Amino acid sequence: MTELIDKALQDSTDTKAIISGRDVVGQTGALFKELFGDAQCILVADGNTWEVAGEQVRASLEAAGVTVVEPYIFPGTPTLYAGYENVERLRDHLSGVDAIACSVASGTLNDITKLASGELGRGYLNVCTAASMDGYAAFGASITRDGFKITRDCPAPAGLVADLDIMAAAPQRLTATGYGDLIEKVPGGADWLVADELGIEAVDDKVWDLVQPPLVAALSDPEGLAAGNPDSIGLLAEELILSGLAMQAHQSSRPASGAGHNFSHQWEMEGHGLSWEPPLSHGNKVGIGTVASCAVYELLPSLDVAGVDPEQRAAEWLSPEDNDARIEALQPLPAIRAAALSQSRAKYVPKDQIAARVQLIKDHWAAILERVGPQVMTPADIADKLRRAGAPYHPGQVGIDQEKLKLTYYQSQTIRSRYTIFDALFELGLFDQVVETLFAPGGYWAETPIPTEGHLDPQD
Ligand SMILES: [Zn+2]
Repeated sequence: MTELIDKALQDSTDTKAIISGRDVVGQTGALFKELFGDAQCILVADGNTWEVAGEQVRASLEAAGVTVVEPYIFPGTPTLYAGYENVERLRDHLSGVDAIACSVASGTLNDITKLASGELGRGYLNVCTAASMDGYAAFGASITRDGFKITRDCPAPAGLVADLDIMAAAPQRLTATGYGDLIEKVPGGADWLVADELGIEAVDDKVWDLVQPPLVAALSDPEGLAAGNPDSIGLLAEELILSGLAMQAHQSSRPASGAGHNFSHQWEMEGHGLSWEPPLSHGNKVGIGTVASCAVYELLPSLDVAGVDPEQRAAEWLSPEDNDARIEALQPLPAIRAAALSQSRAKYVPKDQIAARVQLIKDHWAAILERVGPQVMTPADIADKLRRAGAPYHPGQVGIDQEKLKLTYYQSQTIRSRYTIFDALFELGLFDQVVETLFAPGGYWAETPIPTEGHLDPQD
């Protein structure tokens, strides 16, 4: 898979080099020299990541002749808060130092360093400490501001060091989180195929090939991941990095994120699990969203799409005002509501075009089924893989009850303009029926009881 990373680097705009493999942390200094020449380096870490690799990274830099200034170490909480105040804190410190940052970090601290460096117009390098998410090589940082998680534009790192022995030694829950983030690429890929088939958003083959062909192998050994096997974690880590490079090349998260991710975004924006210790992770929520999305895909072959009448759909189609009212009712929180309105308006099909859109979906339905069939997995299979990786696989394990889950199906469809299978079903007038089926006797959620183990919800 390292070959794929090298191939991806040829097209990446920001990231120039990635060193991935076992026992490679000692190459950090040489990489820093290659990327930044004679610049001084400031290490950025928290108490935990410093403990894991701080001294090794410093030794490597010094051995390569890099001048290393006093490191900036955040207090060692289990998961550093990705709040904008932490970005400002680091940026203010960096602005007084003539040095390029080398973060020793996973998700949150990497994003903080990415944005702080980006705001100063400086490059940076990251030494990865866990296979916990796909944002290492991604353009943009996921940061919370005024209580809401948003993605801020900023360049990806100039370089990454992924030492698999270091990543394999990370707490198991971080690897399980990375697995949850990765597995959504299964139905997320299917969502892209749907949009491609309908001529709404073409698949970019080059980017697709970075993420999808190695995906099944990277998901294939959940037990090995749970056991901290460096080879299994290597497959996961490299695939997560490839996803980030794919997003960097595509300048959007489409290659790595579909309807399943929107469940996580909805709960994230509501602040669900933010105050837990540790906070409920992105990948844990995404994994459960993946089960929810695959439950929809599982029902597609049973739907009577041929029986949908385009003219009748046009007659009953919501006006822009009624569609806004629908979204306002679904999104009571003001900041989410504003975002959902603008995202949903961007994908709203005008009334005079909806009959043609419905006809288009009907005409391509057989092709959609044929293309997504080999791509998706059943919700039971996804849940089983997550369980074996030690990740939550049922919303009841993270404090989301059936009523809230059902509501999230509708809410999640409103928060992104990105076209997914949920939108196709909504336009066909079949979305309500699909969601009702999932929660009615015989449906996936009605028949899948809350597990007694694996609860992360502190209220339990
Ligand atoms: Zn993600």
